[in-house]
Amino acid sequence: MIRFHHVNKHYGQFHVLKDINLEIQSGEVVVIIGPSGSGKSTLLRCINRLETITDGELTVDGVSVGDRKTNINELRRDIGMVFQHFNLYPHMSVLKNITLAPIRVSKASPKEASETAMYYLQKVGIPDKADAYPSQLSGGQQQRVAIARGLAMKPKIMLFDEPTSALDPEMVGEVLDVMKSLAKEGMTMVVVTHEMGFAREVADRVIFMDHGQIVEEGDPATFFTQPKEERARQFLSRLN
Ligand code: ADP
Ligand code: MG
Repeated sequence: MIRFHHVNKHYGQFHVLKDINLEIQSGEVVVIIGPSGSGKSTLLRCINRLETITDGELTVDGVSVGDRKTNINELRRDIGMVFQHFNLYPHMSVLKNITLAPIRVSKASPKEASETAMYYLQKVGIPDKADAYPSQLSGGQQQRVAIARGLAMKPKIMLFDEPTSALDPEMVGEVLDVMKSLAKEGMTMVVVTHEMGFAREVADRVIFMDHGQIVEEGDPATFFTQPKEERARQFLSRLN
């Protein structure tokens, strides 16, 4: 579903992604961990071309992300993204936040879009908040709206960039639970998170990044108990 083949990215002189090789299968849940500044967000943002790569090849479902001929809007329709700061439109109701893209981008009828929105609000556990405004919701609820908004476009892939980092601790669980059920349903997910419990339990594969490189990858059981690389070992020991 996603393939990085010798991908490099620079910000000016700064080499932020170094020879990234990574293949993510359909239905796979990949968790990316690593120190702050290691390039995790940049890697994620390359997938939907919020950032452009400098060289190498990056394909999503067989389509070259960097190709001039690639329809970027079509590509992005297939990729939902959830950020640390929920990025909801504050002046729109929850329902409006969720129906906006399906109506504007996918040309859904308002009725159809509302039905889809309610379906996903149900899924994330807050159908009663459809008419509320973001400021009337807790952080956990706002993030669940953001997930519902992503899902309403019926994406093939969901990207999560530290979705629980801005939340009060008591709200982390409700967001992770939604992500867990999404994973169980077979969504292809790439998740940057510091929630190691989630990684252990839900990830098919853990990727450890440092200084723009994939330093180590493996299944969570192996990675968390027997990391091979010194840098990974140090990173994990600092978390405990
Ligand atoms: P992470 O998500 O792992 O914390 P990022 O991908 O956000 O790391 O950033 C990786 C490195 O790239 C950092 O050193 C950061 O300062 C730098 N960086 C990120 N975005 C930009 C940008 N737009 N311009 C220049 N440098 C950037
Ligand atoms: Mg980041």
